[in-house]
This record gives sequence, C-alpha cells and structure tokens, in this order.
Amino acid sequence: MSQETSSSQRWEHARKVIPRGASSGHRLGWKQVFVRSGGAYLWDREGNRYLDFLNAWGPIILGHSDTRVNQAVLEAANTCDLTGVGPQLGEIELAEKVCELMPSAEKVVFCTSGTDATMHAAHIARAATGRVKVLKFHGSYHGWSDHVAVGGARADLTVDAPLETVNSAGLHPGVTGDVVVVEWNDAAGLRAAFDRHGSQLAAAFAEGYIHSFGCVPPQAGFLELLRELCTRHGVLFVLDEVKTGFRAALGGIQSVNGVIPDLTAFGKAIANGYSLAGLAGRDEFMGHLGAYTRGEATIDGTYNASPYAIAAANATLGIMESEETIARIYALGERLRAGYARAIEEAGVEAVVTGIGSEWAVYFRATAPQNFRDTMDVDTARYGAYQAALLEQGVLETTSATGDRRLNASTTEDDIDRAVDAARIAFAAAAA
Ligand code: PLP
Repeated sequence: MSQETSSSQRWEHARKVIPRGASSGHRLGWKQVFVRSGGAYLWDREGNRYLDFLNAWGPIILGHSDTRVNQAVLEAANTCDLTGVGPQLGEIELAEKVCELMPSAEKVVFCTSGTDATMHAAHIARAATGRVKVLKFHGSYHGWSDHVAVGGARADLTVDAPLETVNSAGLHPGVTGDVVVVEWNDAAGLRAAFDRHGSQLAAAFAEGYIHSFGCVPPQAGFLELLRELCTRHGVLFVLDEVKTGFRAALGGIQSVNGVIPDLTAFGKAIANGYSLAGLAGRDEFMGHLGAYTRGEATIDGTYNASPYAIAAANATLGIMESEETIARIYALGERLRAGYARAIEEAGVEAVVTGIGSEWAVYFRATAPQNFRDTMDVDTARYGAYQAALLEQGVLETTSATGDRRLNASTTEDDIDRAVDAARIAFAAAAA
C-alpha cells in the first residue's frame, strides 16, 4: 500500500486484514488515520493538524514523540537489548524509583499492560487469602482478564442480583458468580456487599478517582470506608492506578488522598507511550509471587520489564521530576476546566465539566454524576454535536459521551485558550 493513500482508503485496506480495521475497539469510530505526532498535536493523512486531548488514553504525558525519551530507548536498545536473563540495571533503578514515589510500594514487578497488572493482582490476592471472589464497582474498567471484565451497564444493581453482564463474548461464563459489583459512592451498598460476601472476597478493585466512565471522584470518606472494610474482612485492597499513576501525582492518587492500598496496578503515563505496566505492594503480599511448584502465584512474561520500555520510564520520570510536570499539567487542566465551565454557561446548555489535574470529562446532564448509573442518562445526541464541532475545529476529544480526556505537558496556555474558544462554538452547537 502506498504512503499516498487517503485516510478512507487506509481504513478500507485495514478492514480487509484486521477485524473492523483496528487492533483495539477504542480506535474505531474515526474517519481519520493519523500519520504524524509531535508535542500536543497529531496530523492526519490529509495533513490536518489536531490538538490531541486523547493522548492515547493516558500514556502520553510529556508530549508526543518526545525526543529525550526516544533517545533513551535507542541507547538502551543499542547497549543491551532483551536478554530474558536476570534483572537488568534499568529495571532495578526503576523499581527503586517507584518504591520511593508510591506510598504503598515496598516491592514492584513490571509487566506490559494494565490488564496484566490487574490479573496478577487477583492471582496474588487469591494466593494470599485462599479465597476466590473479587469485588469491583459498577461500570469500572480494569482490563480484560475474565474476573474483572464483568459488570458493565446495568440499571438494576443490587447486592444479590445475578451478574449477567460480561464485557465480551467468550469470557468464561462461570466467572460472573465470583464477582460482586457495587455502585460507586454507595456506602450502604458497599457495607451490605461486605456483610454478605466479605468472608469470601480475595480482593476489592477500585480506582482512586473513576476514569472508566469519565471523571467521577469518590465522595468524602468512601475510599476510606473501602479501606476499612477490606482490613476488617481480610480482603486485599487493589488500587487500580493504571490511569492515575504518575499523572494525578508522581506517587499516584494514593499520595494525594492518603488511602493506602495493599496492591497497586499501574501503567500508561509511566513510560510516555512505551508499553510498560506494573504491580506494586506491601512485601507481605508481593511475597506471594514465587514458584507455582511451591503453590505460589506466578508472574512470567517474555516482554516483562523490556529494556526499551524501562528506559522510556526512567527517562520520563526523570524529566517529570526535574521539570515539575505535574504542577504544570494541573495548572493547564484548571485553566481548561474553568474555560469550559464558562463556555457551558454562555451556551446555556445542560452540561457539566468534571476532572482532576490534567484530566476532565464533559457530561451532557444537569449535575455531575456520582456513579455509573447516573451517567446512563447523558444526552448522547448533544454530545455527538459537541464532539463533531470540536473535531471540525481541530480539537480531538473522545467519541464517547461518558469518556475521559487529558492533555500532555507540551500543551501551551495558548493551546488551551484556543481549545476553550473551540469549546464555545461546540457547546453552542450542542445547545441548538
Ligand atoms: N485499568 C484502568 C483503570 C484502565 O483505564 C485501563 C485501560 O484503559 C486498564 C486497567 C487496562 O490497561 P491496558 O489497556 O494497559 O491493558
């Protein structure tokens, strides 16, 4: 296929050899094919430039195609590539850094995706407790392993309702019986779930600030309650920091809210786009990783801690520390959210903007949602008009009416002001 093919021709070609045309469901729904990236921007095949507020769903934190990170990767590749033998120097250095930054981290292992990390967390939790069930929150996403890929959209959530909903055909049907789903911010529901299932639960999975359906913070005391119930019932609290880790703060959201989990899954922003994830936790629990011949939980993976991704992560964290990236992206995020809130008011449309730091969500409903059920009534038609109007003006936001979005550190104040101007037009289009 020639370099000259248009975006639509590329989609056509892709559909012939890749189911639906892309290797991840989140990449569908666009007519563009992006062929160049740099800083805060992406360029499509036709040469149009877009201010990127997807940032690959989280990993791009410093900016696209960061030459400092890429140089570090190249050096690692040319010095000592993947050996598959013992730890590598950069891996030890990164593990020390994560332990220094993240309050819950006494030991760390590296894998390649958030899915790997949450799956291994469940294995450790089962090995440590001898129990099988896991608890998660309604609508929350923790990757694709069977025990967490259940409990999608349901209007009728109660503690005893059978879980019919799985997020993919082909998951093991028996897994639904071992997953307890609770509505986010429902303290009474959480207590009831622990009363009923606490002695059978190995782990409770939660994000410290929901990203799976936009940006929904925990209400005051909710995470603390989860922590307390886990401790009381001997359940491992698994904090999913795949989106919040190294973005909400260098030490993760746990270093912001002070609620310390037993295990932490992380990924995405740590390596500015290279595929690295990991699992950190108290020694007492991470010590359950060992040899399956001794009945311990096993972690194995050809590409775990690949030297390229490790080099990218060491470079990314080094830059973030020296340039105070977190403070910068918080200031930019606040500027954007304030501008969007003004634009909503001016347009007189029923919508809210929520978020933390560099991330935000736009919901076309009167009030900020408190849980997944609340997000089910968002006005998707208005959202579609809003998103299309932004895209028309070269601002890339998610196609999902309940999606989260984020900026990277190479975004400028001028970029934000331009996005706010575009949002004025987009909110007005949605109001029409
Ligand atoms: N957990 C959360 C909160 C996520 O947002 C994601 C991915 O978006 C995952 C886990 C899965 O991570 P990965 O896509 O790296 O498998």
